[in-house]
Amino acid sequence: MSNVTGKSHAELASIFNQDEPRVDWHDETLWWIRQKRDVQAHKLPEWELLRETASQIKNNVLSNLSTYLEQFEANAINNGIIVHWATDAEEHNQIIHRLLQERGINRMVKSKSMLTEECHLNEYLKEQGIDVIDSDLGERIVQLANEPPSHIVLPCIHKKKEEIGDIFHEHLGSAKGESDPKILTETARQHLREVFLTRRAALTGVNFAIAETGEFVICTNEGNADMGAHLAEIHIASMGIEKIIPERKHLGVFLRLLTRSATGQPITTYSSHFKRPQQGTDIHIVIVDNGRSIQLGREDFRNSLKCIRCGACMNTCPVYRKSGGHSYHTAVAGPIGSILAPNLDMKKYADLPFASTLCGSCSNVCPVKIDIHDQLYKWRQVIVKEGYSPTAKTMAMKAMAFTLSSPTLYRSGGKVGRLVFKYAPFAVNNSLNPWYKHREMPKAPEQSFGEWYNKRKEGKQ
Ligand code: SF4
Repeated sequence: MSNVTGKSHAELASIFNQDEPRVDWHDETLWWIRQKRDVQAHKLPEWELLRETASQIKNNVLSNLSTYLEQFEANAINNGIIVHWATDAEEHNQIIHRLLQERGINRMVKSKSMLTEECHLNEYLKEQGIDVIDSDLGERIVQLANEPPSHIVLPCIHKKKEEIGDIFHEHLGSAKGESDPKILTETARQHLREVFLTRRAALTGVNFAIAETGEFVICTNEGNADMGAHLAEIHIASMGIEKIIPERKHLGVFLRLLTRSATGQPITTYSSHFKRPQQGTDIHIVIVDNGRSIQLGREDFRNSLKCIRCGACMNTCPVYRKSGGHSYHTAVAGPIGSILAPNLDMKKYADLPFASTLCGSCSNVCPVKIDIHDQLYKWRQVIVKEGYSPTAKTMAMKAMAFTLSSPTLYRSGGKVGRLVFKYAPFAVNNSLNPWYKHREMPKAPEQSFGEWYNKRKEGKQ
């Protein structure tokens, strides 16, 4: 039920909630991005057709995953790319370490890759004495702050510009109190330029890998993946097995959906194709499973592998917007993270499927039509059946089920409840009951609806 810090989603969310102005600002900023997404979606009359097409392409991929992966591997090798397979996070990290070690490299530049967050690559390489600098601006900010990203597209969305100014002052030497985003961006640009020019190795993620051609595509708004990959002698790309699309023509569907859903832009600034290494350089691609084939085998949850990591489900989620990404204590936060994480460790992430109102807004905005809220509901059932729900909650639910199954018990329970509400409200409304933290105690009714109805029928009221 809890993470390595020993805290559940609810406990971590209450820490985030202590700073109310930050919660309001976080909530409003993400909602603003959600609205930008809506504007872009409504501009395309074929939006729903695009979503359906993307969903069907991904259905095909998931049903023929091994075939497409082998096709991709064969074509990538023909193009001169060196392909590695990793069963889990540990193997992924070891492969990358070995590639660097073989060349005597101890400094690497890395663009955004949620897979490397999932595998804790930075921490692993640090332990091996390898310095990794994240080159995505948001990732670099959280790296300097020694924090994980709180959002898959906007890693430092929880930070105010004044806080970023303080971080830059401390680590990059910008003027004290400087918080002008333009000046801070220029400071980061100068700092990263030196990194790009001096790193011999660059690691990137992969947005789409095309089976037909053996090439892969990386989407960034800052061009940082290109800067790193083009200047380094070795480019390592980390890719989850689900990133495959069958043909190049399918890219048109996904690229039109991705950034409109993510940030409300019509297209990503840079969609870069990597097909073969430049002379004198190597491209390695590490294809990672890390629990994905187990998820593929879970009939109710396999659709979650369609995710293209746009973040729209987070931006729209009322729980995410109010609780912050760090409260999810997993690499991918929000609704989709709450479906993916229990597959990796059901006990550790048993709290996450409950961090949802099940309002369905996530499923409505998802560009690949994942039934996110249905899957969250299904995870709850699995978690309860497997015995990972908290004991107090399980006992309370059992007592409730027993009471609701007997009309006599239900009526007596109601009577007792009304008396407690009236004469001993402290028995319910106390510090042990989180429900009342932000709620007013209601006035106890004098009678139940059944009593009122019967009296009325008899003409007594
Ligand atoms: S689940 Fe859908 S909405 Fe959420 S990040 Fe993935 S693709 Fe985007």
